[in-house]
Amino acid sequence: MTLACRDCGTLQDFRSLPAGSVASCAACGNTLSRSTGRSIGAGFALSLSVLCLYIVALSLPFLRASVLGLEQETRIGSIVPLLLDTRWVLVALGIGAFIVVFPVVRFALLTLVLGTLLGERRPEWLGRAFRWATSLDLWSMPDVLLIGFFVGYTRVAQRLTAEIGTGGWCFLAAAGLAMVAHATIDRQMVWNAIAPNRPSPRGEKVIACTTCDLAVPKSAEGDPCPRCGARLYARKPDSLTRTTALIVAGLVLYPIANIWPMSVVTRLGESEGRTILYGVTELVKEGMWPLAAIIFCTSIAIPLLKLLAIGWFLLATRFGWRRGLSVRTKLHRLIDGVGRWSNVDIMIIAVFAPLMQFGAIATVHFGIGAACFFAVVILTMLASLSFDTRLMWDAVEQRR
Ligand SMILES: [Zn+2]
Ligand SMILES: [Zn+2]
Repeated sequence: MTLACRDCGTLQDFRSLPAGSVASCAACGNTLSRSTGRSIGAGFALSLSVLCLYIVALSLPFLRASVLGLEQETRIGSIVPLLLDTRWVLVALGIGAFIVVFPVVRFALLTLVLGTLLGERRPEWLGRAFRWATSLDLWSMPDVLLIGFFVGYTRVAQRLTAEIGTGGWCFLAAAGLAMVAHATIDRQMVWNAIAPNRPSPRGEKVIACTTCDLAVPKSAEGDPCPRCGARLYARKPDSLTRTTALIVAGLVLYPIANIWPMSVVTRLGESEGRTILYGVTELVKEGMWPLAAIIFCTSIAIPLLKLLAIGWFLLATRFGWRRGLSVRTKLHRLIDGVGRWSNVDIMIIAVFAPLMQFGAIATVHFGIGAACFFAVVILTMLASLSFDTRLMWDAVEQRR
């Protein structure tokens, strides 16, 4: 069979993979395929459990707190109506999608696809359904919410009694299982089960599907992929222009997100804005170093490094730099995966702002900084998605 590397574009032929082996790209070291013997049945069981637990978690009380006799109870999506009241409509829709809609849709599709494969059926929509499930992987964030919940709860529990409700416990179980499911379900294995990788036709130019990595003849460019239905391109269209626009927008918003307050705390009529850096220094003062390190890395370091790194990739492509080609490719793979973790700080506010609504005594709201920061995270995620690393390899090739 022919496997195409999605990172550097190199095509490689393999006879067959012995059980327990990994096929790596000879040019950039990317993992092309695994035959780990992980079963579709285990993936199906995990995915179904996550789906059921998550739906229960959404419908039951998540957290309870009381201040001076006032009780407050929240659910996972409670932040959405709260934000809609304060005009942050886009942020409300974004967070609602990331923590409510996308996780449910993703695990419903995954359960459907794996269940259908277990039943030995291969209906026509199967590839499309799995394509949607894999695209939503990046944007459904129960695991990020879990870390945000952990950091926020450690802080809040010092000041007031917060009690985890039944929904909260179901959420913890679902988010934990979702991480296990992520590690268990091997995409290439599922793609192979939907339609196996084939040997490429001899003597014909071949391109790879950017979604499912299927190698197809170059003459099929512009058509939908026979396996996943995504449109086939030799390289992502307008990649450099799109990525540049997204990075410039991100660089403009990044300082604003750091200067303006993430949250506004009102206590007994007095309002105080809290920036990201303020949150980190508070954690350091209280001796919570590990939590301070998590917030510093996810909120300040990762977004900045991402913006700078993708800027470097763009320049390297523009000028055909050869140095660091392999490092750049590996770095892109890394930042593509860690970018979503920058949402931890947003998730802390999303979980605890609805809990801290005690009228005149104390309230917590989103600040302008949070909206800018949320935009920066989404822009950098989109930039990393729209950048085609193979263009860096093409640029070097053309300079030869
Ligand atoms: Zn490669
Ligand atoms: Zn495809």
